[in-house]
Amino acid sequence: MDPIALIDELYEKNNLSDEGLLYLLDHMDQRHQHYLVERAHDTRMRVYGNRVFMRGLIEFTNYCKRNCTYCGIRRENDKVERYRLTPGQIMKSAETGYGLGYRTYVLQGGEDPYFTDERLAGIIEAIKSRFPDTALTLSVGERSRESYQRLFDAGADRYLLRHETASRELYEKLHPGMSYDNRHRCLLDLKDIGYQVGAGFMVGLPGQGNKHLVEDLRFLKSFRPHMVGIGPFIPHHDTLLKEEPAGTVSQTVTLLAMVRLLLPEVLLPATTALGSLDNLGREMGIQAGANVVMPNLSPTEVRDKYLLYDGKICTGDEAAECRQCIEGRITQAGFAIDMTRGDHPGWRA
Ligand code: SAH
Repeated sequence: MDPIALIDELYEKNNLSDEGLLYLLDHMDQRHQHYLVERAHDTRMRVYGNRVFMRGLIEFTNYCKRNCTYCGIRRENDKVERYRLTPGQIMKSAETGYGLGYRTYVLQGGEDPYFTDERLAGIIEAIKSRFPDTALTLSVGERSRESYQRLFDAGADRYLLRHETASRELYEKLHPGMSYDNRHRCLLDLKDIGYQVGAGFMVGLPGQGNKHLVEDLRFLKSFRPHMVGIGPFIPHHDTLLKEEPAGTVSQTVTLLAMVRLLLPEVLLPATTALGSLDNLGREMGIQAGANVVMPNLSPTEVRDKYLLYDGKICTGDEAAECRQCIEGRITQAGFAIDMTRGDHPGWRA
């Protein structure tokens, strides 16, 4: 097999056999990666042009009932200073974001039982009635179908729930007490209810090989999410995985490019984790087909408490600084920011 021919096939058909995907990952050198990134860039230009959508991220609680082995805010990490934003603080962050031009908010948090359906629905309704021209994305983990329905009815538009890894074996190893099937049930329910749904995975997880990554790509191709979050695994000093090596920028970039080719219309963030591993990580992601960034709108007092991994960037910056910084970076890299809601093209408004 010839990697260049495989990249051409992936580019033309937006698909490739599992064997082809594995061969590509196994044989990716600099020259092939350069070609792959070029094809992915060409595809994003055709579908979206050079625009990069901005989403304002509000990290509203770091309480979590889960124990994901890689995550800094896992339940058993008793060194974390826990916080919860009040509805007033959340609204204030949204107001700041609106003033800076954001038209999409992402409410993200640990799985915090304090945020019952009633409390979350109240917050969603308040934001959506105050700012009806915005899109609201939730990222609060696994809930029941009834709960997802209730939050959707309250006005939530989108939901991010990474599948984390499509390998059942690896998933179960990294998520003690959690169910692979339930995570996938959640993703199916969210889509069925009518959310724009984001799945995604980490790159460089301990025990992960290229064959697992092929499973991730195959899952994404068949599930067809509207959004895909991909970031490198980065160890956190207070977890059992603290001695494990981080994923690499290069492999993350390769996978971003492959996802752009498999799902040409997908909304694909250049993640904070990628920017945390390398000062120019997000720019490299954008050049490889990523078309979303999610600058932080959380109050600065809580920023460094939402630490999922070590070395997270932008924990000291005000929302306005983040907005400016990211705009500078995007334009410097030859792209343009887009402050509109940025729905998926296949989305019926
Ligand atoms: N509780 C929510 C939000 C999770 S935090 C949920 O379950 O969806 C968002 C993402 O951060 C996770 O989905 C995971 O992929 C990523 N993450 C967590 N710990 C990480 C680490 N150590 N390195 C890189 N990414 C991490």
